[in-house]
Amino acid sequence: MPVLLKNQTSGQLHASLAQAGVSPHLARRLLAAAVKRGELPALGSDLTARLRDDLRALTEIPHLTPVRKVVSPQDGFTKYLFEGRGTGQFEAVRIPLLHRPDDLKYVACISSQVGCALGCAFCATGRMGFKRNLAAWEMVDQVVQMQADSPHPIRGVVFMGMGEPLLNYDAVMTAIGVLSEPCGMAIAAKAITLSTVGIIPGIRRFTAERQRARLVVSLTSADPRQRRELLPVEQGNPTPDLIQALREYHAASGQRVTLAWTMMSGVNVGEVDAQRLAELTRGLPIKLDLIDVNDPTGRFRPPSRAELEAFRDALRVTLAMPVARRYSGGQDIQADCGMLAPPDSTDQEV
Ligand code: SF4
Repeated sequence: MPVLLKNQTSGQLHASLAQAGVSPHLARRLLAAAVKRGELPALGSDLTARLRDDLRALTEIPHLTPVRKVVSPQDGFTKYLFEGRGTGQFEAVRIPLLHRPDDLKYVACISSQVGCALGCAFCATGRMGFKRNLAAWEMVDQVVQMQADSPHPIRGVVFMGMGEPLLNYDAVMTAIGVLSEPCGMAIAAKAITLSTVGIIPGIRRFTAERQRARLVVSLTSADPRQRRELLPVEQGNPTPDLIQALREYHAASGQRVTLAWTMMSGVNVGEVDAQRLAELTRGLPIKLDLIDVNDPTGRFRPPSRAELEAFRDALRVTLAMPVARRYSGGQDIQADCGMLAPPDSTDQEV
């Protein structure tokens, strides 16, 4: 099996190719040339013509196949459909930073799995079921290809596309390594966000390894019974244990924990929901991101303006922590949160 060059950090590449004569410096050059130009590096003191011939035989630079690209006329969000090596197609979204019109850069929202096993009640990806984990290079190449297609730099990456990243832990962490290395995509680790629906063993491992990417946990309800209905992951990852894991993460990292709250009219935006959240997280510094639900089935609707204002008021009084409302763009091209699913991949209930 050839060594896939976007599939390993430079340190891993050095370990894989040291016997062939690859130095740590050359491993960094190999990674840089693979992600920036899709080729082997130029000859140099550490890369003779003979070693380059050997590396042609020993390595490969894989590429995703771009299948489709759709740009939102509404807000410029751009959705890409890719094929990798293995079952199924997957999507990624290029997000323009609309709130900073003079600061021309993008954030890449990428997928970590094809489909998802977790079946959140309001998510199109969940309705696909799980197809497979993506390899690290398949995550890296979503960003590489988006960057090649973009007039401005990609300065951040969010693992909020298809799949639960903590259920593909090793490959996701390798991809973060390649994306953040100066010789890789050079995207600062703190500008890379991993969004989880609350996989407790993954959060504990993330904490123990002192990973530097940002962590966002989709809580959405502070009532375990309601949460189990909305997010079936609750069954094996109960809310009290999840919050305990987040307290440990905060204690180890000093980071404020960002919780995401998918708002659903008449479901989780009442005063009682704000009170439960405040009780559950007492003593834990959090930041709450509010996101409107986008349910392809129409079962859940975003809150009305009055509901939203009342919920924010209740949060201000009971929670007294920073609260932000996140814009979920690309709605006209189904690129918004919870809507990623390639055509024909969901079952008929959609
Ligand atoms: Fe999976 Fe995330 Fe969708 Fe839940 S919201 S089903 S974890 S992709």
